[in-house]
Amino acid sequence: MVRKIRNFIGNQYVEPKGEGKYEVFNPAFGEVIATVAESTREEVDNAIDLAEDAFLKWSETPVPDRIKILFKLQNLLYEHMDEIAEITTNEHGKTFEESKGDLTRAIQNVESAAAATYHSMGVNNKNIASGIDEELIKFPLGVFAIISPFNFPSMIPFWFMPYAIALGNTVVIKPSERTPMTMEYIMDLIAKAGVPKNVVQLVNGGRETVDFILENKKIVGISFVGSTPVAKYVYNKGTSNGKRVQAGASAKNFIVVMPDADIDGTIKNITGSFFGNAGERCLAGSVLVTFKENHDEVVNKFLKEAKGLKVGYGMEKGVDMGPLIRKEHLMRVVSYIESGESQGAKLLLDGRKTKVDKYPGGFFLGPTIFDDVSIDMKIAKEEIFGPVASIVKAENFDHAIEMVNSSQYGNASSIYTRSGYYAREYVRRVQAGNIGINIGVAAPIAFYPFAGMKNSFYGEIHPQGGFEHVDFFTDRKVVIGKWYI
Ligand code: NAD
Repeated sequence: MVRKIRNFIGNQYVEPKGEGKYEVFNPAFGEVIATVAESTREEVDNAIDLAEDAFLKWSETPVPDRIKILFKLQNLLYEHMDEIAEITTNEHGKTFEESKGDLTRAIQNVESAAAATYHSMGVNNKNIASGIDEELIKFPLGVFAIISPFNFPSMIPFWFMPYAIALGNTVVIKPSERTPMTMEYIMDLIAKAGVPKNVVQLVNGGRETVDFILENKKIVGISFVGSTPVAKYVYNKGTSNGKRVQAGASAKNFIVVMPDADIDGTIKNITGSFFGNAGERCLAGSVLVTFKENHDEVVNKFLKEAKGLKVGYGMEKGVDMGPLIRKEHLMRVVSYIESGESQGAKLLLDGRKTKVDKYPGGFFLGPTIFDDVSIDMKIAKEEIFGPVASIVKAENFDHAIEMVNSSQYGNASSIYTRSGYYAREYVRRVQAGNIGINIGVAAPIAFYPFAGMKNSFYGEIHPQGGFEHVDFFTDRKVVIGKWYI
């Protein structure tokens, strides 16, 4: 049944006034399951006004009381994990296990935000001069906006929301118009956990709704994650409108398999990096770097493993890889495969041939592997965001690093090696924010920052719960005092 996605304002679900403009698909079936309207400027402003009013009381709520609510939310999310994961699989396409992983990461951020009791502490010095004390106090700022992409519908809003509210702010969340159902469902749990009315609001829509947020004077900061062109736009417009902005962006991740690597022990891990989540992951491997000593062995084993992956509807047992998010996106990824062929790369595995007979309308593409790729080909340079691997050969370690660093992006990179020297040098020299050593998906745990570089991140303070993230959601006052009585 096709229904309209609702906003959640004042702990109530409300239908936005606009017409359903975007379609939400079950990408495995290729069928529309809901529509999303842009929220009007009035609706966005109203949500923000109410969040600003709620800020007064919420920011005065003692931090241990805020944290108690997060503990309740953590429990509710665990209790409802299967329902939420099923919603995610049906709107996104990833497998049920991947959807549970998405939510598990969200919950870990709730747990990590409980450290707000410590993170909100200031510092002080007694007697910095005779009879004079000085202290630094951290305080919340007001209403933050969270604008998230389609690929992790529960995790990415939770990279920000739990920290923002634990530290006393209020938030307005704008999920992706392509996967809005997961957060729509979770909002009810946020209310049931006891988060007071208007502290967390949900507005749906696409670019117009984002503009209404960017133009609203009451929004103090924006946490954005999405593609590089939109990240740049949000960063530039947000900062010129006086807001602090952190903006995670696109990626092109290189995986280097050194000649000394344990190939048998890690090939599953490497394959998971390229094809997990159908390659729609900002930490997915995209370019595989091999050497003449190990090229044939790595390629043969990688190919065998990739051929064994079962593509299908993510709710069915035994499925390893779901569909892509939209028909248009599938066509875009196919156009990269065509460009690889026309630029002379050798197609070893062609995902276009993968058919899922039971779901002929689904947006499926099987794992695709190109060999003999050169670093200046489009498939080696641009973000594809699909299950396409490009294999390049390096002359030596320095050449491998040079290729990795030639990318305009710097989200993640991994090295597979038994050598401490190479691992250490890789970390020192490679221009990427999240680095894996014998780990294909270098996803930082919730209490570490998600540290993209170059065109993969705009701003100073990275997403997720490292203690530095506290600085995004708080400001400081320094008080210098002398008492006479
Ligand atoms: P996207 O840029 O299309 O959308 C992200 C958000 O921006 C959505 O909420 C969308 O409604 C909004 N938006 C889209 N176009 C807009 C416009 N013209 N003006 C204003 N707002 C607009 O991204 P996506 O396709 O949903 O997500 C995939 C991208 O996100 C990939 O590039 C991926 O690498 C990136 N990503 C990055 C990270 C990271 O941490 N660096 C994490 C996940 C995804």
